[in-house]
Amino acid sequence: MPPQPDFEALRERMVREQMIARDIADSRVLEAMRRVLRHRFVPEALQARAYEDNPLPIGNDQTISQPYIVALMTQALELKPDDIVLEIGTGSGYQTAVLCELARFVYSLERFPELGEQASRRLDDLGYNNIEVYIGDGSQGLPDMAPFNAILVTAAAPAIPGPLRSQLVPHNGRLVLPIGDHHQQSLQRVRRTGDSWQVERLIPVMFVPLYGRHGFRPPDEPEPPRSP
Ligand code: SAM
Repeated sequence: MPPQPDFEALRERMVREQMIARDIADSRVLEAMRRVLRHRFVPEALQARAYEDNPLPIGNDQTISQPYIVALMTQALELKPDDIVLEIGTGSGYQTAVLCELARFVYSLERFPELGEQASRRLDDLGYNNIEVYIGDGSQGLPDMAPFNAILVTAAAPAIPGPLRSQLVPHNGRLVLPIGDHHQQSLQRVRRTGDSWQVERLIPVMFVPLYGRHGFRPPDEPEPPRSP
């Protein structure tokens, strides 16, 4: 068997070169990025590449996001230790683990049962106990557990899903998500104050689509019949 890479050194280098050298300045976020074992969230054959500056495949045509993007979205959420968070798009569970390090409790929704169940087992094995993974259409949010201090969507939506806006706490609720089409998207932060939602555009990004009732139509779902 080839010797294992020094994952701790790779993680430290990732934080210095991909985060601090760019614009990640929140010390709690940097600490979380140092703590979470990213190599445990990728397929075994890709573990040595886990700390590279790019996304990697995780199965079901999905990806674990680039480390910098995970840090940037987490920073944009402005999490406090008492926050209750909803994440849409569990994927490998890596971003979920970063959120678990920074918030009181995380609800995470995944559309693919295989990915959601695997992520849930992995998070359990790693000792995260402030997380519940649900399988379902995250574009509708999780009304039974709302409201949330912060909501993070890790797949691109065509527009801000209405249920997610309304599931934010009215006082300084934050929603961070990529908005756009299959070719071009911008990362946006929506801040709720009472009945007003202020939208800020952060950076251009490229994410896999958010499928579902308030997202894109899934490729395996037939078009609805046209009315005559
Ligand atoms: N944050 C993940 C990680 O760290 O591995 C990567 C997420 S991946 C870029 C996007 C995820 O969103 C995929 O796992 C995909 O199946 C999921 N997804 C897409 N549409 C969804 C929906 N309507 N509800 C829940 N999950 C959805």
